Amino acid sequence: MVNLREVAIRLREVINIVDLVSEYVALKKVGRNYVGLCPFHTESKPSFTVSEEKQIFRCFGCGAGGDAIGFYMRISGLSFPEAVRELAQRYHLPLPRGDSGEGKKYDRLYRVNEKALRFFRHLLKSAPEAEIAREHLREREISESTAENFALGYAPAEGSALAAHLRLSGVDLALAEEAGLILPREDGSYYDRFRGRLIFPLRDQQGRVVAFAGRILGPGEPKYLNSPETPVYHKSRYLYGLYEARSPIRERGFGLVVEGYFDLLSLWEKGIRNVVATCGTALTREHARLLKRLLRTWYLVFDGDEAGRRAAYRALGIFFQEGIFPRVVFLPQGEDPDSLVRRFGPEAMEELLPKARSPESFLVDYVRQAFPPDPEGKSAAVAEVRKILSGVPDPVIRYEYARRVAEGLDVPERFLLESPPQPTPPTSTPAAEDPFGKLILQALLHHPSLAAELKALRVEDLLRDPSQQSLYLRLLEALEEGCPPERFSPEDPELQSLYSELFFSPFPEDSAEKILLEIKESVLRRRFRERERERFLREIKEAESSGRKEDLARLLKAYADLCLERSIKRRGEGVYESFSS
Ligand SMILES: [Zn+2]
Repeated sequence: MVNLREVAIRLREVINIVDLVSEYVALKKVGRNYVGLCPFHTESKPSFTVSEEKQIFRCFGCGAGGDAIGFYMRISGLSFPEAVRELAQRYHLPLPRGDSGEGKKYDRLYRVNEKALRFFRHLLKSAPEAEIAREHLREREISESTAENFALGYAPAEGSALAAHLRLSGVDLALAEEAGLILPREDGSYYDRFRGRLIFPLRDQQGRVVAFAGRILGPGEPKYLNSPETPVYHKSRYLYGLYEARSPIRERGFGLVVEGYFDLLSLWEKGIRNVVATCGTALTREHARLLKRLLRTWYLVFDGDEAGRRAAYRALGIFFQEGIFPRVVFLPQGEDPDSLVRRFGPEAMEELLPKARSPESFLVDYVRQAFPPDPEGKSAAVAEVRKILSGVPDPVIRYEYARRVAEGLDVPERFLLESPPQPTPPTSTPAAEDPFGKLILQALLHHPSLAAELKALRVEDLLRDPSQQSLYLRLLEALEEGCPPERFSPEDPELQSLYSELFFSPFPEDSAEKILLEIKESVLRRRFRERERERFLREIKEAESSGRKEDLARLLKAYADLCLERSIKRRGEGVYESFSS
């Protein structure tokens, strides 16, 4: 019995990435690598590089990267399991029959989430202590039927009610921890992640519960708390309401993108149901791709304030890269979709839609306001628009938008079409920011024999970049299962990019022992700093609560110095200096 991950390993053995990529991109051999025009962004000079030796690709323009499977995922917009299945068929590899191990694990995560959902849901309906949540919904004019539709719930304030409930219903608590529902205490017991919050279950497109968000009731921070990333929940690929709103969106032939949970719920309540919400996450290309699969007519309905305009502008750039050209709805100053429809009814929103701005006129207005009206300002505005337009994949559409925007800015359109000096900034590439994390990951790639040592050092909790951390854990797991690093294939496009970047980055040809020594020193330094930081934070808190203002000022200054020193160190140059932090 093989599982999908094993199939992926076999695929990496049989596919030559140069052959696969050549089906989509004209490649030319330059030195040891092949180069061509990147299929994932628009460029006139090739920065898309394929290494036959390492069996990976990387675009130095947009940052896309990965192995053969990663390339196929991106080019055909498939998830990892889908891509592996399709490729396995093309390359005549046997597929797992029935359920794969991975599938079973995912199913178990869905099931434990489902149990938590029923628990939260039941409490919201009937627990006396949930009155505060019910009151909150009443104030926001959210009816019981809408609450039912979105399966809203309540997480009790008491510290470990869900953990206790799950244990009693026979759930493996380690699994619940992996699902992000509960957290371990030092003594081995567990406490709940969500406490005293109104709960929004996040469902994937098949309606399975993948994660939760919780809104605080009353004072406290943060206002919204989310599940962490888990094998079934990826923030960059999740939009709230997509499951519920699919049919309404298809029926009406267009959809609205709003920012908040309550924006969506209020619109739904008032009968406007073709809506999805970004909910605190910056829009990504994956989000845009999800929306594109549904249809292409979208309206951005963001708050009428400056922050809302900026968010809309940013979102527009991302949509453009996916070939979607949304219209932008301006709300009256000070209103959000939630307040608007509650005050003036759904008609108020419906009336705004025909008045929505075209993307080009929004762009012109935005850059005109963002830059001063002098020649330098105009030049900066043109450069800004050129950057956005350079992301539009279809040259005809790109030209047409350039023509329209050029008119608005009163410049010749060629100013907006010439290739910009800087390529489109990467939107989904996690640069290996933290040099320590990079050192750890590269050490594993080049010296897999260090896996056990690294595991014993428990370096994962020192990795501050979540992408690095999850890549590290996946890689470690793969190595333990006997998969060599060059056949390991991360399932997430973001991790694919990070992985390929590591392969293309230089690494000193030192012995494993020397590298390990280097790592151990960094670990010591980092642990020491970590403790120092915790001590500061504790003392700051104490000084704050006992009102010792002078102490507080001194501590804050010292703490700021510590952080500054660290950030300077982190930006250090040279291979080894930059490794230690
Ligand atoms: Zn590219």
